[in-house]
Amino acid sequence: MPTIEFRDVVKRFGGHTVLDGLDFSVDRGERVTLIGPSGSGKTTILRLLMTLEDLTDGFILVGGEPLTHELRNGRRVEVPAKRKKQITRRIGMVFQQFNLFPNMSVLENVTEAPVHVLGMKKTEAKDKAMGLLRQVGLEEKADEHPSRLSGGQQQRVAIARALAMDPEILLLDEVTSALDPELVDDVLNVLREVADTTDITMLIVTHEMQFARDVSHRVLMFDAGRIVEDGAPEMIFTAPRNERTKTFLRAIL
Ligand code: ADP
Repeated sequence: MPTIEFRDVVKRFGGHTVLDGLDFSVDRGERVTLIGPSGSGKTTILRLLMTLEDLTDGFILVGGEPLTHELRNGRRVEVPAKRKKQITRRIGMVFQQFNLFPNMSVLENVTEAPVHVLGMKKTEAKDKAMGLLRQVGLEEKADEHPSRLSGGQQQRVAIARALAMDPEILLLDEVTSALDPELVDDVLNVLREVADTTDITMLIVTHEMQFARDVSHRVLMFDAGRIVEDGAPEMIFTAPRNERTKTFLRAIL
């Protein structure tokens, strides 16, 4: 069963149609990278999944359950806010700009949601957080404030924070785009390890094509809110069929 399903999804910002009847699905445990020119709707897809944007039309299902709207007696009805929250709780997101809580320590950033959203005991959340900080190589920074960390370190904390909720799905939105080049590899290596050691479903937006090639099972090429090519990374990166994929890859590789 697919764990993410977009059915005829439409998203407009004012009069601007960003997604126009988008259909795709992602299987449980699958890692899918979205590529394509800037403005083609990739980030919007991730934000719709987190319910950070409202859907204009269509349906999104997570684990077979409607995320925002469902059909009842032939009518499109909004899913109650409480239900939406229960679903998005199973989804973690890492943003381009880290978005750590600036007034909390690194450790508090990682324990906040497990304690306040899941009701985990503080000691248990702390143990788990320390384990995750060790995994991302930042155990010794637990008591620092985010502003004292490099961008790469902040991003690794953001990854630990997302993993602390044991997400079924992890959304990565250009997580290395804001980093100095020498900090990119540390972040990507942490994510490679997550990919190697867990079965978390991942939806990845990135311009790091080698990373996409290494970790993805499938690559979707977007252009103007539509999928123009869908295939295994070896196929998309070495023998793309679509002209727009070829032009896009030629420009960035
Ligand atoms: P990508 O991630 O592929 O670069 P985005 O999903 O960020 O594309 O954006 C797709 C289009 O939607 C762009 O034209 C962008 O300007 C527009 N857009 C995104 N967010 C908003 C918003 N909050 N208000 C208005 N337009 C937006």
